Amino acid sequence: MEFKRCERCGCFFASNDNVCYNCGAKERFEMSKFKTYIEENNISNINSLNNLSVETGISTKTLNRFLSYNDFSEIAEQINLK
Ligand SMILES: [Zn+2]
Repeated sequence: MEFKRCERCGCFFASNDNVCYNCGAKERFEMSKFKTYIEENNISNINSLNNLSVETGISTKTLNRFLSYNDFSEIAEQINLK
């Protein structure tokens, strides 16, 4: 375990996760919402991060972070994020 800074609220915590204990539930909820959305929708209709944010109800800041993960690099490319 190492000390990390929570990617949601910025507090320091000891864990191997990306977010702290307090933010964990929201993080998992939004991640599953995001995954469900990209599985069930034609993301070629999505042409901006803002658009995706409106569609999913997830903040652009969080979406940016999700899309920076290797799992979603193809999606990020498809949406052509700059
Ligand atoms: Zn946090």
